[in-house]
Amino acid sequence: MKYKRILLKLSGEALMGELQYGIDPKRLAEYADEIKQIHDRGVEIAIVIGGGNIFRGVAGASAGMDRVQGDYMGMLATVINGMALQGALEEKGMLTRLQTALKIESIAEPYIKRRAVRHLEKRRIVIFGAGTGNPYFTTDTAAVLRGVEINADVILKGTRVDGIYDSDPEKNKSAVKFDFISFEEVIKKGLNVMDSTAFTLSQENKLPIVVFDMNTMGNLLKICEGENIGTVVNI
Ligand code: UDP
Repeated sequence: MKYKRILLKLSGEALMGELQYGIDPKRLAEYADEIKQIHDRGVEIAIVIGGGNIFRGVAGASAGMDRVQGDYMGMLATVINGMALQGALEEKGMLTRLQTALKIESIAEPYIKRRAVRHLEKRRIVIFGAGTGNPYFTTDTAAVLRGVEINADVILKGTRVDGIYDSDPEKNKSAVKFDFISFEEVIKKGLNVMDSTAFTLSQENKLPIVVFDMNTMGNLLKICEGENIGTVVNI
């Protein structure tokens, strides 16, 4: 396996599957199967999950709600998704722990780096909920932060598109996909990989990011085996 320890970032929206809102159990089960494939091969897996399928602070703010209040609601949404994913993974026989940046001790452990690493060493999948625990941040930033903290080899950002393009492939048919790109080039070309806080954190800590299509089954395994799937952002 190319990667020994990964931080997988899944967006909340991806969990909607065919639905307009909330969590699609079918999609959840598919993701659990994908994750099981790499778990069976010994990859240590930490996961950060978004909350966009349930609530986004920015959306709340644009509808007149207090931004900070909305952001905390968004963080709680990620905990709901984390619990759903935890259930789906355990259903398929994997051991998991949910650790949250906001304390919700009757359902999850508080985030403790050393403890998270210990879980990984014991082959438990660790799901990090509640983002960074701070408003005005995103779960992408949480993913990179946790990835750096636990010494992950790579951030695997599972999305609906199959990588990074020089222009929006949904709008421009002749858009060209990058197989590899440097952090510097992403900035120079003004490409949208992650929000800039997340991206800078990754760059400063030399933590590579792979952007890939999580909805093509088998991709996650192929990446961990070293195949060039998606786009790799590196120094
Ligand atoms: N959020 C936050 N701080 C964090 C992470 C998330 O305030 O560290 C809130 C924010 O309101 C965000 C929501 O949680 O809109 C859901 O997260 P995100 O939008 O990153 O989820 P995704 O787009 O990946 O589904």
